[in-house]
Amino acid sequence: MITKITVAKGDGIGPEIMDATLDILLTAGAQLEIDEIEVGEKVYLAGNTSGISKASWDIIRKNKVFLKAPITTPQGGGYKSLNVTTRKFLGLYSNVRPCMSLHPFVKTKHPFMDIVIIRENEEDLYAGIEHQQTDEVIQCLKLISRPGCEKIIRYAFEYAKQYGRKKVTCFTKDNIMKQTDGLFHQVFDEIAVEYPDIENEHWIIDIGAAKMADTPEVFDLIVTLNLYGDVLSDIAAQIAGSVGLAGSANIGESCAMFEAIHGSAPRRANQDMANPSGLLQGAIMMLNHIGQNDVAEKIQNAWLKTIEDGIHTYDIFKEGISKKQVGTKEFAKAIINNLGQKPKSLKPVTYAKGTTLNLPKYKRKPAAKKELKGVDLFVHWPGTEANDLANMIKSIETNELQLSMITNRGIKVWPDGFQETFCTDHWRCRFKTSNDGIINKTQTITLLANAIENNIDVIKTENLYAFDGKAAYSLGQGQ
Ligand code: NAD
Repeated sequence: MITKITVAKGDGIGPEIMDATLDILLTAGAQLEIDEIEVGEKVYLAGNTSGISKASWDIIRKNKVFLKAPITTPQGGGYKSLNVTTRKFLGLYSNVRPCMSLHPFVKTKHPFMDIVIIRENEEDLYAGIEHQQTDEVIQCLKLISRPGCEKIIRYAFEYAKQYGRKKVTCFTKDNIMKQTDGLFHQVFDEIAVEYPDIENEHWIIDIGAAKMADTPEVFDLIVTLNLYGDVLSDIAAQIAGSVGLAGSANIGESCAMFEAIHGSAPRRANQDMANPSGLLQGAIMMLNHIGQNDVAEKIQNAWLKTIEDGIHTYDIFKEGISKKQVGTKEFAKAIINNLGQKPKSLKPVTYAKGTTLNLPKYKRKPAAKKELKGVDLFVHWPGTEANDLANMIKSIETNELQLSMITNRGIKVWPDGFQETFCTDHWRCRFKTSNDGIINKTQTITLLANAIENNIDVIKTENLYAFDGKAAYSLGQGQ
């Protein structure tokens, strides 16, 4: 069965590595029909700030499978990242990055490393919702959703099942972000029990990342949130040998995009120098995704054999290890000549016959009982003494809502604050009833009207809710 795919050759080294990749794919017998589109630098410079035209979107959405070479984002403001836009518009919630060392043929400090990092791709701080609220403080919202957590964690376990991975490790920082990262960890624990044959564990991200950089062989598959995954997957690719060797898949419920993890390396363009391996690795993931697993396996084994033969591009060439330094075209030719062969010392791959992981669609849970228990008013105030602010703020209390706490950057400064605590001009003033009762929104409006009357600069409010009787907001640090 022929699969129609969308291809963008990109900028810089993009066209050379894409030509080499497609040459290998088609010679190996991949059943592909190619729809080429233009994205990137030329489109940006023609005045389209997202780097892609409406007609190209239509083609990507029709074909559903997109193989993309790196692009150059022009310097200067106003140009939006095409990668971030594509991931979000197409709902590509899962970013998959295998990072494997090719010891002793590519230099690495970690000869036995073989990790897959699965990174949540749509939410977290990457929602890009930022506001300056006072002279001194800017906020970036971290959004974590239950559907987002369930989708990525289930994907990670299904991927482990399909590719024979034995252990799934979850990385979060839920000792600090108890609700957002806490939800990710909780959902991980809930879903892990559905996969009794796969070992599971959780690490706090800081020590987990340190362990991964030091002893990567103890990990098999890591699943984590967007920002942590972004940082971690580049480290993993680099310590495996080179960022030039890694590919990545971005998978959604209906569309998928495959690419190299590196950029367009403009200084290396048009010199037949670039290593096409990263894009080729992305393309192999694409073939597995569309069910052409036999072709994927044939190419991966030929690529491993070529690396093992010491036929290397400049970026991984090392005297004493490599046999011959080649350019992009000759490297591709060597892979083509090795099609049908397997590596002798590196482990050959076998890919099970199967297509896209078939994940159930998220089913919305029944709504919880939601009760309003108070409100946080965030106030811009240039003073330094929390007691002074408390006296001022108390003047806006209503019959029901009393000031219960003030924090500054999360730390409690009233009542009973420390003189030593450094305070900015951004204060959170918490209002609740004296007996932790339920309030209504009209009462918060009265509070806000009082604040306006008293010239108190409220820059935002946050409602304090309990869900099914459980308080769902953070306490002040030190409270
Ligand atoms: P880069 O990844 O392009 O280059 C980093 C270094 O790695 C350079 O020394 C380069 O020569 C080398 N390198 C990268 N890929 C190579 C390959 N296949 N073979 C041999 N050497 C390779 O990163 P950069 O220089 O920071 O960015 C250049 C441009 O790429 C920028 O415009 C950036 O916005 C863009 N970029 C695009 C993507 C993407 O489209 N997915 C990702 C990252 C950066």
